[in-house]
Amino acid sequence: MADKLYLIKEGEISLKGGNRNLFEKQLRHNIKNKLRPYHSDITKQKGRLYARISEEADEDLIEKALRTTPGITGFARAYQAEKSVDAIKARAAEILPSSSFRDGESFRVTVKREDKTFPLDSHAMACTLADTVFSVFPNMTVDLNHPDHTLTCEIRGEAYLYTEEEKGEGGLPYATAGKGMLLLSGGIDSPVAGYMMAKRGLKLDAIYFHAYPYTSELALDKVKTLGSIIAPYIGGLRLFVVPFTDGQVHIRDNGYEEEATLMFRASMMQTAERLAKANGASAIVTGEALSQVASQTLDAMNFTDSMTDLVVLRPLVGMDKEEITEKARRIGTYETSILPYEDCCVVFSPKHPVTRPVKEVARKHFEELGMDSFIEEAIRNTKVYSFDPMGREIDHDA
Ligand code: ATP
Ligand code: MG
Repeated sequence: MADKLYLIKEGEISLKGGNRNLFEKQLRHNIKNKLRPYHSDITKQKGRLYARISEEADEDLIEKALRTTPGITGFARAYQAEKSVDAIKARAAEILPSSSFRDGESFRVTVKREDKTFPLDSHAMACTLADTVFSVFPNMTVDLNHPDHTLTCEIRGEAYLYTEEEKGEGGLPYATAGKGMLLLSGGIDSPVAGYMMAKRGLKLDAIYFHAYPYTSELALDKVKTLGSIIAPYIGGLRLFVVPFTDGQVHIRDNGYEEEATLMFRASMMQTAERLAKANGASAIVTGEALSQVASQTLDAMNFTDSMTDLVVLRPLVGMDKEEITEKARRIGTYETSILPYEDCCVVFSPKHPVTRPVKEVARKHFEELGMDSFIEEAIRNTKVYSFDPMGREIDHDA
């Protein structure tokens, strides 16, 4: 009967002027979609969203859903009360025992009084609510500047109380900025790259080039696990697994050894472009960072960019490994990324890769390799795995 109520704060969306409604509508859709099969109802009031979620939904699930949804800057489990001093105090006394408030620790009360007709002003209401806190926890102390806990009371159309506010991801709701194809390897970088672009509003599908048996089934499992971990930030993810062994071997046996990585990267771009066009995407996203490895020099990027008409987004381009690693840890991909199974680039890596390719020369060599038929064959044999907005694999055979 009593739904669970969450108060949700949106960040950057509130700056979006005329398009604001569109962003907000997408954010609501994204949240509702994540909470399925539970029923949720999301309404808006003065820069806040109020989500009423069916009682059976587990709190951990709801919190994971909100924590991983870009566009949300903060959220709190909230409790509604009738708009009278007594009702609000009674409600506070009811929720405090199961909150994080503890005797011996400090607190403050913050009152936001939107409704100026409410009989007590903010200060008076804060004082009377502090009395309520003392009646439940006689040994707490007040600390206005650095409290251990905060009880917030917002008096608007209704009165709302909450004690714990969690930080959200910020950014913009995914699927408000178009769609991209993420080149997802088993490494540390590309899952972070996908996460970052989703936070700028992109919807993503992912592509993994698999060179079985040079790379093991374990390497594929690892990429699938990474896909499932980043899926919540993206609102679900389809992972295209492209079998590219024949293409790799062809490059190894027929190309210049020191250009092997470049030729593979060029093939990835062209394959990604075709898959992008077939699936409504207009950008390619990679985890490259300038000068991190031989194939990530400006000249190399210039060459790979010239292999596609689509915009190539490299959100990590200016970041160092430490910054990337920190993000990987935060989103939970790091531990999986460092598992030892080699990705195919390592297996086919030249000993002395070209770092300063001349675009025209590399393009000519790529043309001579005649990769088209390998790319077509690989696309024909591509397998798709899907993860729902909470990261659960969807069983297509079921
Ligand atoms: P990562 O940590 O993401 O693997 P990396 O530092 O190992 O990156 P590279 O191996 O040179 O760098 O790859 C650069 C980018 O190319 C990756 O971030 C990823 O976007 C893409 N990529 C590399 N290998 C593959 C692959 N097998 N399948 C799909 N994309 C790949
Ligand atoms: Mg890699």
